[in-house]
Amino acid sequence: MNKPLDDLKKLPSIDSLLQQPELTAIDAPHCLKVEAAQEAVDACRKHILQGTSPQGDMIDSIITDTHLRVSKKVQPSLREVINATGTLLHTNLGRAPLSEASLQAMNTIAQSYSNLELNLETGKRGHRYSHIDSLLCRLTGAEAAAVVNNNAGAVLLALTALAQGDEAIVSRGELVEIGGAFRVPDVMEAGGVILREVGTTNKTHLRDYEKAINEKTGLLLKIHTSNYRIVGFTDSVPAAKMVELGKKHEVAVMEDLGSGMLFDLSPFGLPKEPTVKEGVAAGIDVLTFSGDKLLGGPQAGLIVGKKWAIDKIRNHPLARALRIDKLTLAALETTLSHYLDEQQAIDEIPVLRMLNMSAECLEQRSHSFKQRLHQQTKEICTLEVIREDSCVGGGALPITNLPGAAIALSPLTMTPDQLTNFLRCDEHAVVARIQDDRVIINLRTVLESQEDTLINTLVRSLQQKSH
Ligand SMILES: *Cc1c(COP(=O)(O)O)cnc(C)c1O
Repeated sequence: MNKPLDDLKKLPSIDSLLQQPELTAIDAPHCLKVEAAQEAVDACRKHILQGTSPQGDMIDSIITDTHLRVSKKVQPSLREVINATGTLLHTNLGRAPLSEASLQAMNTIAQSYSNLELNLETGKRGHRYSHIDSLLCRLTGAEAAAVVNNNAGAVLLALTALAQGDEAIVSRGELVEIGGAFRVPDVMEAGGVILREVGTTNKTHLRDYEKAINEKTGLLLKIHTSNYRIVGFTDSVPAAKMVELGKKHEVAVMEDLGSGMLFDLSPFGLPKEPTVKEGVAAGIDVLTFSGDKLLGGPQAGLIVGKKWAIDKIRNHPLARALRIDKLTLAALETTLSHYLDEQQAIDEIPVLRMLNMSAECLEQRSHSFKQRLHQQTKEICTLEVIREDSCVGGGALPITNLPGAAIALSPLTMTPDQLTNFLRCDEHAVVARIQDDRVIINLRTVLESQEDTLINTLVRSLQQKSH
């Protein structure tokens, strides 16, 4: 008797397979069920031909496999991930989580019509910027404001609107690459602005800018070196000096702040970063910054400055192409409104709350988390609470460490690599780092509401059979 041939004959038809009660019970589009069933039968056929068929009933195992494949197919591609890396701003993980109130605002605007571009008092056409410009002006002291899709867009738009066809003078120490192919020289080229580099990598003086000014100069551009620091024998020109020079030669000054903060972070024990307000007070004509870095809001590019410059920016055709959508605007207005009260901002905005979490608090959280996890994983894993610093990430505060604690896991039945794989591929995906051959769970970036899910995913992953 030929066993494989016999087994091949027993393979079910797709139709009969989908009639099985276990599969009719699944709520999923028919086309996905058919695809999953076909894949499961094909996989089984392959096993038979290779002589590697699993033990047990063939039909049962095909049904189980189909089930698994359907659940994978109906899962959305973009989904929630628990960030256990301790790095606050991860572009790959979607940067800043939003405040509760921002979520509610998005929800309200998403499910209904809104006054996005209607002035309710006059009944006439309004502007979408009107919902945030007075807030932004109040928070930064600027004369006017605009907002676009992201900060890269804000930089492109401002450069194009203010200096297309002209030269923009930039220090060699500030020609930043942000990652994801955002390079200042490339953005300038795309905006039709001619780059005029001055100074050297480590030192640029006011006289370097002054010497480079000529009749084609359209802009003095300052860029915050957000993701690196030049340390040692260095010099750069403070904003106020550049404004003075700009005034003398009637050239506008622009600064790209990158992350951009609305208040001073030094009380958090963080280094002093330039705030937006300080830039405005120094007299810079246009400042740009991100909505989803340390600001802790949705992806957006915020632009503040002098009215003449903002008018030019708002009225440029590119502004229409880069315009912000209503859901982002709703979340941004709410996030900005938290900043009217610094304490409220720290309490409500997740990124600021995480930034403000003390080492003692993290140590306590780590200990109680470790205890809970230990109860369910005694036989398969050893655990230790360790001291661990985290970083801000997302191209902000590159050389700052936030002192804290974390849980180090040593799995006993698999390698750390296998464990992080299982964690990532779980239905509740978790991203964690490996350090010194241990898997590190840093709770700074885990929301308290996610702790139960995190424990379940860890237990499930540690119980997996490694192949
Ligand atoms: C992050 C950053 C950008 C890009 O901002 P996005 O919001 O990511 O578009 C531009 N310039 C600087 C200096 C940055 O740090």
